[in-house]
Amino acid sequence: MTKKVLVIGEVRDGELRNVSFEAIAAGKTVANGGEVVGVLLGDNVSGLTDVFAQYGADRVIVAEHPDLKTYTTDAYQQAILQVFDIENPDGVILGHTAMGKDVGPRLAMKLQAGLMSDAVSVELDGDDAIFTRPIYSGKAFEKKKVKEGIVCATIRPNNIAALEQDPTKKADVSTVAVDIKDLRTVIKDVVQKATGGVDLSEANVIVAGGRGVKSKEGFQPLQELADLLGGAVGASRGACDADYCDYGLQIGQTGKVVTPDLYFAIGISGAIQHLAGMSNSKVIVAINKDPEAPIFEVADYGIVGDLFEILPILTEELRNLLV
Ligand code: FAD
Repeated sequence: MTKKVLVIGEVRDGELRNVSFEAIAAGKTVANGGEVVGVLLGDNVSGLTDVFAQYGADRVIVAEHPDLKTYTTDAYQQAILQVFDIENPDGVILGHTAMGKDVGPRLAMKLQAGLMSDAVSVELDGDDAIFTRPIYSGKAFEKKKVKEGIVCATIRPNNIAALEQDPTKKADVSTVAVDIKDLRTVIKDVVQKATGGVDLSEANVIVAGGRGVKSKEGFQPLQELADLLGGAVGASRGACDADYCDYGLQIGQTGKVVTPDLYFAIGISGAIQHLAGMSNSKVIVAINKDPEAPIFEVADYGIVGDLFEILPILTEELRNLLV
């Protein structure tokens, strides 16, 4: 049986985030040959319709309203539910991002839907969409399906491959006038931290440092390696607690969960709480002076030695390879 699935796009700095394209790919599986409808919410997002279609949305709905300019739980929940009422779909998919983690469970509750949170893959078993999701901080995976009714899912960034972009495609667009009222919270101002560069949760390469990096300045060579590889810098909580870097860079159980193609763990011991955020990375390279450090148990490549000697050599060798 085919299904209709809504995919809620997530816009940052005027562009759709990659996870929205990955959500379209997940939506295609859940729809089982049915329709995947991209939903764009914001106050000036109609310029993004074609790119949504180019990554596979069969149709795109635009809901613009001044109160949707910046994400708030109330406004987005109201807008999505109004689109839901018009479209009457069988499922809704979001990224497992700060927004998806917040509004996903609320939608599931309002729609009396089964929630598949933090899915890393989805496949069909007959008509049923089977979601795989990590449990026990990533130490095991469970396969789960919604028994009946509406499927609500959030998908972890960087795990489900987006479809190939077809740059020639034009979107089939419709607009929905949403009515936003009785907001309990209002955003007065958004103060962005000047981290800049590649978004950590969507980066293909992450160069993460720990307490072994020893200072704020010690992070500069890590930034150089990240820049060389087009990646982002991350950190252990040890490094954040020591004030070597901002908590926005923390990876782990109480930080960001990342799945890059390549993860460098530099001067990080590999505590279980750190592994919970990065152990599903595709290739892990660890540099640590302690050969017994637990990080080596999950590393694909381990270098035992002083990071201050190894890192400049590694960066230089990679630079020579890349130019
Ligand atoms: P350390 O454990 O101190 O390790 C530093 C490493 O650097 C050592 O292995 C050392 O051998 C190596 N080193 C030192 N000098 C050099 C050198 N010159 N060259 C090479 N190697 C060197 N942690 C997280 O990371 N993320 C989380 O989200 C998180 N959540 C937590 C939640 C809870 C409830 C709790 C209790 C803890 C949490 N932690 C988290 C903390 C975690 O338990 C560890 O304390 C933390 O990960 C340690 O950080 P670290 O590896 O940088 O520091």
